[in-house]
Amino acid sequence: MRAALYYGRQDLRLSEAPEPTPGPGEVKIRVLYNGICGSDLHEYYDGPVTTRSTPHPLTGVQNPVIMGHELSGEVVALGEGVEDFAIGNLVAVEPAETCGQCLYCRLEQYNHCPLLAIQGYNRAGGLAEYTVVKQRLAHRLPRGVSALQGALIEPLSIAWHTVNRCAVSAGQTVAVHGAGPIGAGVFLTLKRRGVEAIVVDPSPARRAALTALGARTVLDPNACDVVAAIRDLTGGRGAHASIDAAGGAKAFSAMLHGTRIDGTAVVVAIHHEPVVIPPFDLLMPEVYLTGVALSVNAFPSVIAEMARGSYPLEGWVETIPFDGVIEQGIERLRRQEGMKIVVDVARGSRPAAVAN
Ligand SMILES: [Zn+2]
Ligand SMILES: [Zn+2]
Repeated sequence: MRAALYYGRQDLRLSEAPEPTPGPGEVKIRVLYNGICGSDLHEYYDGPVTTRSTPHPLTGVQNPVIMGHELSGEVVALGEGVEDFAIGNLVAVEPAETCGQCLYCRLEQYNHCPLLAIQGYNRAGGLAEYTVVKQRLAHRLPRGVSALQGALIEPLSIAWHTVNRCAVSAGQTVAVHGAGPIGAGVFLTLKRRGVEAIVVDPSPARRAALTALGARTVLDPNACDVVAAIRDLTGGRGAHASIDAAGGAKAFSAMLHGTRIDGTAVVVAIHHEPVVIPPFDLLMPEVYLTGVALSVNAFPSVIAEMARGSYPLEGWVETIPFDGVIEQGIERLRRQEGMKIVVDVARGSRPAAVAN
């Protein structure tokens, strides 16, 4: 089968790989869509970061590994003992494989499992014609949720978890710094929950996309003093919570300083440089500074919200063919072109692989 194999920094090869067979408790999936995200770029340009040159302790997988962790597809084969799925089921795949036995797994904080293996980094991923996953990681999509929507469930589950970390309620205000795919997902999640959003992004295209999704307050950080503007919009107090979905010292600082006393500042972006945090800036406002580690138990909620129409994809999601993974996907995202780019895995140069 065709697959995109990561060998190391800037070395992703579209080549042949053996087709996997499902073991006991596993389902085999014909991949339909797989999104490319910021952590893929980080791995490609700066890695190996999450992938390994020695066997992963849980999966035994090391580079080269098939990339891709935001995938949807169709169940095509069932391993021994699998009863909850049928051939033809459409599923979204949760990429976090865990030990199931440690303290964190038992406490429903499996995103902190020390043996966490992420599909597409520590286990064969979704940039391939087929993949095999544990049945508990496959989430069936209800009628009305398409395979393309299914590939968005993973990044939206990160957005969902990010909003949970904000600890806000309806009527409160959250400042979202960065209107990329996670920022967009965060905005839509806030909107669904009745929370006001102030969206900040220097890109006119991204600001326009968020406005089209319904954002009422959208700021250009190059055209105004963001912190002053956020204070103006919140009765002088600052946002109840702020999110750094941008990465970079400027966004981080605006996140911290635009948050009100006793509020919460949440980092979800990957930073390429360390940031300096003056401890005094935490001391006096007593702001809670926290982060986001993937998501936990978010898939069913996000799938239900997708089914009720909370996550429109128009204006921020586009698809590319399999052969375009590097040039049309990774390289364009690096240049900040496009927002969410999803690989239509069945569409590529080999006509034999074209889906119905
Ligand atoms: Zn991702
Ligand atoms: Zn565990």
